[in-house]
Amino acid sequence: EAKKNRHQKSQFFESSFGDRLAYKLELEQELRGAIGRGEISLHYQLQKNIQTCSIIGVEALIRWHHPVLGGISPVEFIPIAEETGMIIPIGEWVFKTACRQQVEWREQGYGSLRMSINVSPYQFQDELFVEKILHTLRETGVDPEYITIEVTESLAIRDVEKVSAQLQLLRRSGIKLAIDDFGTGYASLKYLRTFEPHLLKIDRFFVDGIDTEAERGSMVQAIIAIGRSLNMEVLAEGVETENQLEFLREAGCDEVQGYYLSRPLPADGVEQLLNERSQAKNRSEPEESAV
Ligand code: C2E
Ligand code: MG
Ligand code: MG
Ligand code: MG
Repeated sequence: EAKKNRHQKSQFFESSFGDRLAYKLELEQELRGAIGRGEISLHYQLQKNIQTCSIIGVEALIRWHHPVLGGISPVEFIPIAEETGMIIPIGEWVFKTACRQQVEWREQGYGSLRMSINVSPYQFQDELFVEKILHTLRETGVDPEYITIEVTESLAIRDVEKVSAQLQLLRRSGIKLAIDDFGTGYASLKYLRTFEPHLLKIDRFFVDGIDTEAERGSMVQAIIAIGRSLNMEVLAEGVETENQLEFLREAGCDEVQGYYLSRPLPADGVEQLLNERSQAKNRSEPEESAV
């Protein structure tokens, strides 16, 4: 009964600092057993090369559905996981699950899709981080060439030299690196020299209003130019309209991701989209659809 009251109270967590704190503590407590109870899953969002018009991969995005609290956004619970260290087992679960899914799709004939996996800067503080990743690659049999880890520019990366060394080891295995939310983080240009990513993901802030606000359009063009000159691919996040997509194609952006293409979906939803797409191709219809 006490538990029930606490849950009811949590619906009003925005009302005061104390309630917010209580809600946070509640999430922390509930998060501990969430994987074991099967409440955590991955959704996948398509990524498309807009110059060649092909689906090249997906980004794995974590989802938490709590039986009482409902769906909880990663924006809310990932920071809690980071503060409490729970990000380590959660990150391991995400990486393993995403690798298995990549292999499953390959075996089912969906082709080799690039699997992009978000990695928290805090995971690099785990002494065994690289070893665990290499172990999971072997265990799942995934081709590391099709695994990309997405890291945000972050103040949490304090020991840049150590992280560089870890990234170097991962690169040697074949894994690729993407800088996530590029343009909104910390020390952007320095990161590019140090970490040598394969892919720059332009934050959706810049994409929003790209075709209506000249400044944002210019910024996107500048980011694409940086990517070009450093031999990186550039992906624009949060593409929601055809206008935005056309602007990006015109500007020479390589790839896009966003609601215009697809929402993040459970694995079977992705399969359905890919099936529909290949059926449309077999009927040799002109490729007019967004996907
Ligand atoms: P992110 O890695 O930048 O992921 C992109 C976010 O933008 C996702 O939010 C996605 O659902 C959303 N998005 C995609 N297309 C559109 C669009 O067209 N319009 C709008 N408005 N939004 C779009 P989501 O899934 O809520 O994830 C939020 C953030 O949580 C992620 O940002 C990432 O930083 C973090 N996250 C998600 N999954 C994981 C994970 O497995 N591990 C870690 N460490 N962080 C994760
Ligand atoms: Mg990401
Ligand atoms: Mg992002
Ligand atoms: Mg983000």
